[in-house]
Amino acid sequence: MLHADFFRRWMTAAAASVEREAERLTALDSPIGDADHGSNLHRGFAAVVAVLEKDAPDTPGAVLVLAGRQLISTVGGASGPLYGTLLRRTGKALGDAVEVSEGQLADALRAGVDAVMTLGGAAPGDKTMIDALVPAVAALDESFTAARSAAEEGALATTPLQARKGRASYLGERSIGHQDPGATSAALLIAALADTAEH
Ligand code: ADP
Ligand code: MG
Ligand code: MG
Repeated sequence: MLHADFFRRWMTAAAASVEREAERLTALDSPIGDADHGSNLHRGFAAVVAVLEKDAPDTPGAVLVLAGRQLISTVGGASGPLYGTLLRRTGKALGDAVEVSEGQLADALRAGVDAVMTLGGAAPGDKTMIDALVPAVAALDESFTAARSAAEEGALATTPLQARKGRASYLGERSIGHQDPGATSAALLIAALADTAEH
């Protein structure tokens, strides 16, 4: 069973990974965006870690709801409300249980990803974070490790796609040939989850 501490460690691992990869995320956001994805998420996840240290919520749901709320209020770009909604909706789906099973987390994350699709209007194949998140949550029933591989493959598979949502869509066909920054950061988030489960 997974407790609040697991979710705090996941958020801390995500923040560390985003910090390590911030330059790469911003570089990916340069040809098909406005070169701020790494700095947006670095700022957002640093604020998440800070608020979790200060408030120390004691249920899995409360950790994710607080983290999501913090992302929404600190990240100006499109990714803030989208990742914020992912975490907040996942947290709400977990309710106020003190411990949750891996299966409950998988179901909750699927509800979170559905909420991101509703908010942003993106479907798989639109060259967004959804292209990493949808295969990841589908693979979660198998294992965290399978979810990490599925997310990484999904992120790589965005390169030949033409963007149909977000800033990159303004480029039309010129968005083809570049890996999507949000799909790349989504894979980092799922990799942090798998790392947390494995350690
Ligand atoms: P902004 O584009 O506002 O500068 P970021 O650079 O932080 O925001 O995030 C860009 C990423 O957000 C994109 O690479 C894409 O994956 C994701 N994104 C943008 N719009 C949407 C959307 N409508 N639905 C899902 N993801 C989206
Ligand atoms: Mg950007
Ligand atoms: Mg921006």
